[in-house]
Amino acid sequence: MKTTEVLADLRRRFPNEPEYHQAVEEVLNSIEDVYNSHPEYDRMNLIERLCIPDRIFSFRVSWVDDSGKVRNNMGYRVQHCNAIGPYKGGIRFHSSVNLSILKFLAFEQTFKNSLTTLAMGGAKGGSDFSPRGKSNMEIMRFCQAFIAELWRQLGADTDVPAGDIGVGAREVGYMYGYYKKMAREFTGAFTGKGMSFGGSLMRPEATGYGNCYFLLNMLATRGIDIAGKRVAVSGAGNVATYTMRKLMELGAKVLTMSDSGGTIVAREGLTQEQADYIFELKNVMRGRLSEVPDRFPELEYHPDCRPWQLVKCDIAMPSATQNELDADDAQALLDGGCFAVSEGANMPSTADAVHLFTKARILYAPGKAANAGGVATSGLEMAQNSQKLTWTAEEVDHKLRNIMADIHAQCVKYGQEENGYVNYVRGANIAGFKKVADAMMAQGVL
Ligand code: NDP
Repeated sequence: MKTTEVLADLRRRFPNEPEYHQAVEEVLNSIEDVYNSHPEYDRMNLIERLCIPDRIFSFRVSWVDDSGKVRNNMGYRVQHCNAIGPYKGGIRFHSSVNLSILKFLAFEQTFKNSLTTLAMGGAKGGSDFSPRGKSNMEIMRFCQAFIAELWRQLGADTDVPAGDIGVGAREVGYMYGYYKKMAREFTGAFTGKGMSFGGSLMRPEATGYGNCYFLLNMLATRGIDIAGKRVAVSGAGNVATYTMRKLMELGAKVLTMSDSGGTIVAREGLTQEQADYIFELKNVMRGRLSEVPDRFPELEYHPDCRPWQLVKCDIAMPSATQNELDADDAQALLDGGCFAVSEGANMPSTADAVHLFTKARILYAPGKAANAGGVATSGLEMAQNSQKLTWTAEEVDHKLRNIMADIHAQCVKYGQEENGYVNYVRGANIAGFKKVADAMMAQGVL
């Protein structure tokens, strides 16, 4: 296998899918040597079967808005690979959603889920529907219309969706409710469910907390204490706000939060009162960060700006969306003394930015390792649903910490270079790949 040839072929067969090509290129560059040391992989053309999703569903979602107007969106589910467990991956509702983005996310999810040590394959789905500005009833009608098309492809042992951008507990509740009505069974066919109908304690916290646990593991390799460290966080949704909370609990200073409108800067770190307000504003009131200075005039608001060039920080935790941190941002972070980047979002750093981080030999954790706590806890939710039991928050948190430590150890095992530097990108990709590849080999050509 030659990475350049595989990529050229994928670009020819699937043009205009830049995010998908970007994600595949990053993984193939890491695994090329390992792949080529196993000629049996190539004899079975494993690489193409691993890059191209098992199947993709795409469909029109028609729904009626509050004024009685009929609206149409596109819906998709990419079932990428179920070699090691049922398809598993979130659903994203955002106006930017297209097949390139969902194919990249499903591809990444396959390796991420493999890293968690749990039995989950990779998938992703979504729609170009934006929940912003919609009433609860409009969102319910949309979720029902979406699931009316998709429910036949889902199931606790078949394909188990969860939330992602634009899909939180409310949307999962509406989708699961309609799934249950159509399938006429109450099973763990979704994760991220409400606590009263099979959800897991700690699932909302898991991605952000898990990223902090991964960061602690990385810092420990260099004997660095997180207390007092200055951290730039982007995003202000599920992942970012729980990252903010855990960082503050650990004694770090959170300098920034952002949404699609702009960035809030707290030069000396957010106070507990400010952090609590931002949490409420974004997660409960569904407001905009531009409203924050009305309440706290001492905080700066920078419209249309991302955090990376606004502050000097020790640590960056991009937690909003893909490609939100480019080479100029990476250089500014490095010039400002940043020594660790731990990704809450999926592929938030561009390929050029990643290159700068690894060249500078800073601690850099790609999303597929650092944000895997979310899907890992979804796996724990599936286990609880199967047992018809609910574990305590302490039990789930304990398991989450262990899983993040395990993922970190796998990255070190496969990513440590002779000079001692840990290349977490390489480590995560090789560890994730090996398990999936071995399972695919054992199961024959499917
Ligand atoms: P949310 O919808 O809860 O929050 C997303 C945040 O990012 C919001 O603040 C949103 O701003 C901002 N944002 C979204 N798109 C853009 C954009 N194009 N430009 C700038 N800002 C943007 O999503 P999550 O927190 O769940 O997800 C965030 C990231 O983490 C995604 O990459 C997701 O794939 C990844 N992830 C999520 C997991 C989970 O458990 N939820 C698990 C693993 C990864 P606004 O409020 O203005 O819309």
